[in-house]
Amino acid sequence: MKYVSTRGGMSPQPFSEILLEGLAPDGGLAVPESYPSVDAATLEQWRSLSYDELAVEVLSLYISDVSRADLNRLTKAAYDPALYVGETMVPLKPLNKQLSLVGLSQGPTLAFKDMAMQFLGQVFEFVLTQRNATINILGATSGDTGSAAEYALKGKKGVNVFMLSPQGRMSAFQRAQMYSLQDQNIHNLTIKGVFDDCQDIVKQIAGDLGFKSQWRLGAVNSINWARIAAQVVYYFWAWLRATNESSQQVSFAVPSGNFGNILAGHIARQMGLPIRKLVLATNENNVLEEFFRTGIYRPRGSEHTYATSSPSMDISKASNFERFIYDFLGRDPQALSAVWKQLADTGQFDFSDRLDELHDTYGFVAGVSTHADRLSTIRKVWADTGVLIDPHTADGVKVANEHLEPGIPMLVLETALPAKFSETIEEAIGEPAPVPDHLTHLADLPQRVIEMDAEAELVMNYIKSHASI
Ligand SMILES: *Cc1c(COP(=O)(O)O)cnc(C)c1O
Repeated sequence: MKYVSTRGGMSPQPFSEILLEGLAPDGGLAVPESYPSVDAATLEQWRSLSYDELAVEVLSLYISDVSRADLNRLTKAAYDPALYVGETMVPLKPLNKQLSLVGLSQGPTLAFKDMAMQFLGQVFEFVLTQRNATINILGATSGDTGSAAEYALKGKKGVNVFMLSPQGRMSAFQRAQMYSLQDQNIHNLTIKGVFDDCQDIVKQIAGDLGFKSQWRLGAVNSINWARIAAQVVYYFWAWLRATNESSQQVSFAVPSGNFGNILAGHIARQMGLPIRKLVLATNENNVLEEFFRTGIYRPRGSEHTYATSSPSMDISKASNFERFIYDFLGRDPQALSAVWKQLADTGQFDFSDRLDELHDTYGFVAGVSTHADRLSTIRKVWADTGVLIDPHTADGVKVANEHLEPGIPMLVLETALPAKFSETIEEAIGEPAPVPDHLTHLADLPQRVIEMDAEAELVMNYIKSHASI
């Protein structure tokens, strides 16, 4: 399997070459040359596999330059049940006859991003050790990416992490989780701005190719292909748990921000997994919902990005969206580049004449959830089932309920546990979310963080004085 750029300017590369890169050299995103397909007989054979075994099957389709024996070892370490709370790996948790949560948030940072990041940490260390190389990870986070990356990479040999986060935009729990890490290879930079400002700085620095190669910069934010590939695994896993025959379809509802999680669902669907609908849920920052409803894509600037009570979805320029549009344009890099140029020139593009394709061929539908919806959904699910869900998952449940179809199980991806967003839980049900035992003292730990204005140059100077090369 080789990887090319959505914009056509990169010669085909194996997995371990693109693993350590952020954007492709031409400013595009790395994508596999084609999607492998998985037939019904193979799906049936996969029913009895454990999570790490299934991960080997799916990931080996995308990673042909790491041996199967090594992949076995890496997935065993990443998906060791001891790292995850609860009895089973990625359980399906039924809320009613038709609707279930997919329990993706039982990892070290209580968010679904651990599912991909734990694998990434393993495969990073493996490839770096093989090459006797070092890397300086530069990333932006609105909360969960940062902590998941830091927990996956803390103490790893050959890796430094420089993580930008928007000041005052994360929950107290998220801040405590990230800023309490004392590992010397972890650097938290809190930026005076919103998430998109952080992401723009990362893009600007990574776009400076001289700086990028001199300081061996890499990325683990949601454009990292290994993360997308690792996320594909749990769509297969959830489908295998929700069905008992290979023709049965399910729909997935996905609380979305940077379009990484649901992109993995799109890929699973392209590979032949019987997915009926991909239900995209946004909060008040509804750029993606608008696109799938109207066909018009109009990303917004940071001044029009609202701070909401599902903060990990406060994104108005979804960094993975280009990968979907590349597929939608028949995987034609010229066409993609033209559309992206139009976007840069005019601030939008318009596929309103192809809405049927978006909905029927690609299976996408979308909906919005507001603060009031979040509170009432948390309250109702709690009252009806005794299950407490976090605000992001609540956005997913709210929109999932608007797209139920007879006979089609609806699986809502649980993207975080409620303990991470207790302020909103308290507002919804009048009591705080329970904190897992091993994290009750988190808030008391000393925090280690550097404050900075939203300027790329300040970040570059910091990297120069703290990176290893
Ligand atoms: C990252 C995140 C999302 C959004 O996922 P994307 O892959 O960026 O679309 C939703 N909910 C939570 C809790 C997250 O951490």
